[in-house]
Amino acid sequence: KPLVFSGVQPTGNLHLGNYLGAIKKFVALQETSDCIYCVVDLHSLTAQLVYDDLADQTRSITAAFLASGIDPKKHIVFNQSRVMQHAELAWIFNCVARIGWMNRMTQFKDKAGKDRENASLGLLAYPSLMAADILLYRATHVPVGEDQKQHLELTRDIAQKFNNDFSDRIAALGVGVEMQVGEETVNGYFPLTEPVIGGPAARIMSLRDGSKKMSKSDPSDLSRINLTDDADAISKKIRKAKTDPEALPSELDGLASRPEAENLVGIYAGLADMSKADVLKEFAGQQFSVFKPALADLAVEKLAPIASEMRRISDDRPYVDAVLRDGGERAGVLAEATMKTVRDIIGLLQS
Ligand code: ATP
Ligand code: MG
Repeated sequence: KPLVFSGVQPTGNLHLGNYLGAIKKFVALQETSDCIYCVVDLHSLTAQLVYDDLADQTRSITAAFLASGIDPKKHIVFNQSRVMQHAELAWIFNCVARIGWMNRMTQFKDKAGKDRENASLGLLAYPSLMAADILLYRATHVPVGEDQKQHLELTRDIAQKFNNDFSDRIAALGVGVEMQVGEETVNGYFPLTEPVIGGPAARIMSLRDGSKKMSKSDPSDLSRINLTDDADAISKKIRKAKTDPEALPSELDGLASRPEAENLVGIYAGLADMSKADVLKEFAGQQFSVFKPALADLAVEKLAPIASEMRRISDDRPYVDAVLRDGGERAGVLAEATMKTVRDIIGLLQS
């Protein structure tokens, strides 16, 4: 059975990009896989150290997971900082990965901005902690939005270098598994994880700027639809979304140099579980004055039940905390089993 891991940071409001690009996939994968979904609170420290309400934001992401349909009994839901092995493995991966690999990451370049020397060391090492999150459970599949593709490639590079550097120890301890790398069959301890990216909503763009991804950290609230927005806010943001004056085309080619139009079509497709081509078949030749209200109605129909369920679950704080505690205990058992082996592979004295 595939083992799925993914995480969401408890920073800022969850938005439609997080939902369509990640959480909706988390829900779907529960049928076929064993899943571990994590509120990655340690990652939040990379951009900003002090928060007023990190605990409440952690609860709020958890409530969104549960409200969207993640089952914390069949699968594991917890917050990262409870399982200290994430930080332990990240340290080891800091020593496996190379500084040059980190310097090439576009998320680091974007988030660090011009004053790169003054970014936290954690922001640079972020992908190493992300690799640890995933490989601690030896996860085989990771559902994420398109923006995380580069970090998942780095996760494979880290796994491969670890497997390579320690190949003799892994063989001597008999803890390797056979896997296919290109043409070659190799024996390694960490799997080469597959990203689960794709569909029409893998990269939802800002409603104000078709060249930037929709993001929690965008200062403009009009740039995103939050999972907690009410019907009025959703309608207003879609009405005000930047578009061009042309009608919708009948074929995908017609969206080629129209990023804002393509984004709204992608959002419709993601919400309705349709392809963009099928959305265009339905709305070919229509103006945005027709398409936007249809999109707003669809968004309200799909998001309102999640928002109200989120409110209901959030009101029961002891329940949310109990889910995270229980998930943390179960994750901790799996994590310690991996770390015991990793410490043996490296040769750290444990007895
Ligand atoms: P931040 O800007 O603070 O990094 P974020 O919106 O990117 O916030 P994350 O917690 O970093 O949120 O990401 C959670 C998940 O949502 C990841 O799988 C990420 O790829 C996905 N995701 C984030 N933004 C988008 C987007 N605009 N479209 C599709 N998926 C997205
Ligand atoms: Mg992000």
